[in-house]
Amino acid sequence: MTVHLTIALSKGRIFQETLPLLAAAGIVPADDPETSRKLILDTNQSDVKLVIIRATDVPIYVQHGAADLGVAGKDVLLEHGGEGLYEPLDLRIARCRLMVAGDPNHQPRLSRPRIATKYINTTRRWFADQGRQVEVIKLYGSMELAPLVGLADYIVDVVDTGNTLKANGLAPLEHIADISSRLIINKAAMKMKHARIKAIMKQMATVIDA
Ligand code: AMP
Repeated sequence: MTVHLTIALSKGRIFQETLPLLAAAGIVPADDPETSRKLILDTNQSDVKLVIIRATDVPIYVQHGAADLGVAGKDVLLEHGGEGLYEPLDLRIARCRLMVAGDPNHQPRLSRPRIATKYINTTRRWFADQGRQVEVIKLYGSMELAPLVGLADYIVDVVDTGNTLKANGLAPLEHIADISSRLIINKAAMKMKHARIKAIMKQMATVIDA
């Protein structure tokens, strides 16, 4: 019996850095998502498809079984909560840190400092765990702007080189988590398609360890 597999990926860095891992598992996409407008990509294996979606949607597709596997950043998984997913493999790609950042010389509001972020769940948890009262403001991008125009006292964002923060007069202040991309698997698919998924994980692991 043929086992069909759907793998959810986001465009850009995760897609590019996942290609060698897929190749190790014998999977080569038929199209490049940067140039193709297709949302479902065939691969060299007739029973394996890729769906190309936004990074924050990857755990949602996998949770509900619309994709069997996916690759998602730990930042996205912390925010999603990981319900309905296994997270068996750290792919060690797209590494960065989730940080609280701000202007080190800024005097925050005394009562409830405002934090701008797209990671509202993770941010609430980080401050609540320390008994710090904050007001969290949800943004969808360009978090670094918020402290510059007085929208927020601090931001929570992923930081790689720190160049973006620096260019805007901001600095990393508190380290929340180390981030890298993870292989995620739908719990039912892990049972039903166990042999096929196990084989892919094993082949990917050989490249990660190398
Ligand atoms: P940086 O190298 O710190 O200047 O990072 C530039 C921007 O790219 C940051 O504002 C982040 O939002 C984003 N970024 C960096 N690394 C990652 C990553 N691994 N995953 C997602 N976004 C990232």
